[in-house]
Amino acid sequence: MDVLDTFGRPLRDLRISVTDRCNFRCVYCMPREVYGRDYRFLERRELLSFEEIARAARVFAGLGVQKIRITGGEPLVRRELERLIAMLAELGLDLTLTTNASLLSQKAAALAQAGLRRVTVSLDALDDDTFRAMNDADFPVARVLEGIDAAAAAGLPVKVNCVVKRGVNDDQIVPLAEHFRGAGHTLRFIEYMDVGHTNGWRMDEVVSAAEIVGALDDAFGVEPVEPSYRGEVARRWRYRDGRGEVGVIASVTQPFCGDCTRARLSAEGRLYTCLFAVRGHDVRALLRSGASDDELAESVRSLWSARRDRYSDLRSAQTVDLPKVEMSYIGG
Ligand code: SAM
Repeated sequence: MDVLDTFGRPLRDLRISVTDRCNFRCVYCMPREVYGRDYRFLERRELLSFEEIARAARVFAGLGVQKIRITGGEPLVRRELERLIAMLAELGLDLTLTTNASLLSQKAAALAQAGLRRVTVSLDALDDDTFRAMNDADFPVARVLEGIDAAAAAGLPVKVNCVVKRGVNDDQIVPLAEHFRGAGHTLRFIEYMDVGHTNGWRMDEVVSAAEIVGALDDAFGVEPVEPSYRGEVARRWRYRDGRGEVGVIASVTQPFCGDCTRARLSAEGRLYTCLFAVRGHDVRALLRSGASDDELAESVRSLWSARRDRYSDLRSAQTVDLPKVEMSYIGG
């Protein structure tokens, strides 16, 4: 049965982080100075097991969740992820995964076979030097493109997401658009957000959706497309020459809290009702306490019913210093 929060928003999407580890050190997300050798990542026993995740997902499905997105850290570094995908696929929901695609060539077929329905690949540059500098792991862009091809070959629809940071990869907007338009993969640009603290976010590093659309319009000519459903976070634009569409997600300049139906479960089983939440609710403790599914559902229901989060609507200079959870922990 549906559950609504204090603003009447239903619980429709669940993002599940399966690890806080990543094989990239993207400078705006997991800077090496912070996530270096001494950083304490979660230990295995702290992570939710696949069985615990699947049980939680089933309870959420009973509360109206229709879509599950697996994320991380880098979800494909968690061993045998396809086993979890197979367990979640049994729920019959929309099931997707966000990945840096570094391991996608090896994994795509098994994931598709296990029941994954689609995949979102994060790719911030097409230029190899820029990409290697941004992932700070010297990872070549060609391998990500191979991963995308492998996913498509396995029958998985692919979306590509690019976070734009001023002075770092804003010169990649047009090359990325050129590469993916007409290629059959949806490309979406995302405004760089003030998640966490380790990235030292500043507003002047955000390239606004308006600027991004301006660059696309200058290069190709674009026109707006009507949203296909209420709450669609990406504003869609069509290339005037008919060679496909591109999306822009204005998370900072045009926030969409009013339509936010997402809950996030961290790898250690903490439930966050906002990407910018300070504290998560300890679902793992409940899962491991012998609570019944009904008790679990009741706990999530009461948490969601009390939800008042609308951080991005309220974002201002004052919110920059508030304590916030890191993106690599919660997964976006
Ligand atoms: N490792 C996976 C990946 O690369 O897609 C999943 C986790 S990663 C944290 C999810 C997404 O968050 C990536 O697309 C990344 O670019 C994005 N991200 C991280 N920090 C961000 C920020 N400050 N603003 C906007 N997006 C951010």
